[in-house]
Amino acid sequence: MLSNTAAGQAQQFSDPELAAIVDSAHRMGRKVTAHAHGVDGINAFLRAGGDSIEHGTYLDADSVALFKKNGAYLVPTLMAGDFVYRIATGPNNFLTPAQTTKALDAGPKMLAMARRAHEGGVKIAFGTDTGVSAHGDNAGEFALLVKAGLTPLEAIQTATVNAAAHFDLSAEIGSLAPGKAADLIAVSGDPLSDVTVLQAVKAVIKAGAVVKP
Ligand SMILES: [Zn+2]
Repeated sequence: MLSNTAAGQAQQFSDPELAAIVDSAHRMGRKVTAHAHGVDGINAFLRAGGDSIEHGTYLDADSVALFKKNGAYLVPTLMAGDFVYRIATGPNNFLTPAQTTKALDAGPKMLAMARRAHEGGVKIAFGTDTGVSAHGDNAGEFALLVKAGLTPLEAIQTATVNAAAHFDLSAEIGSLAPGKAADLIAVSGDPLSDVTVLQAVKAVIKAGAVVKP
């Protein structure tokens, strides 16, 4: 999407290459994900058995069925679409013409994409593609997930129980239970009524120790 070329939305790896990548990763006990906007690439990767898609911008009904068949996760990275669209339409657009064309088309599609996937029953994990938007702003993704139709609790779960499950780390992190890592944040207010309170973290507790009072 941000390659300086008027291309990049189509499938880039061949089907045999995707099969080799997925099979090799799985033989090593690894998950394998694809950074994919275009529907051809998304569906080819999911047909090859991939475990998650980052972005998913142009996914369709076949994609939704493939996600569910694989138990694959979608990481919608709504902040990336939101950011590039704001830059492309703003007074200080630093994107090249090729990037701008793609940003104007893809950016506005991402909320509807996440809504379609969520309503279709696709599992969603939290991710931002930060580096596109600014480091430190990551929690802005929660509000965008809510805009896409997730409840605040479902949005929080994308970053906790779902992300841990996606990484096969549910025994250690993702929820609070005896024996798990005591990694917590504290905010002022109730994120279940206003998820944007997660954008102002008041305290950080890592492995049971306060690291940011
Ligand atoms: Zn990206």
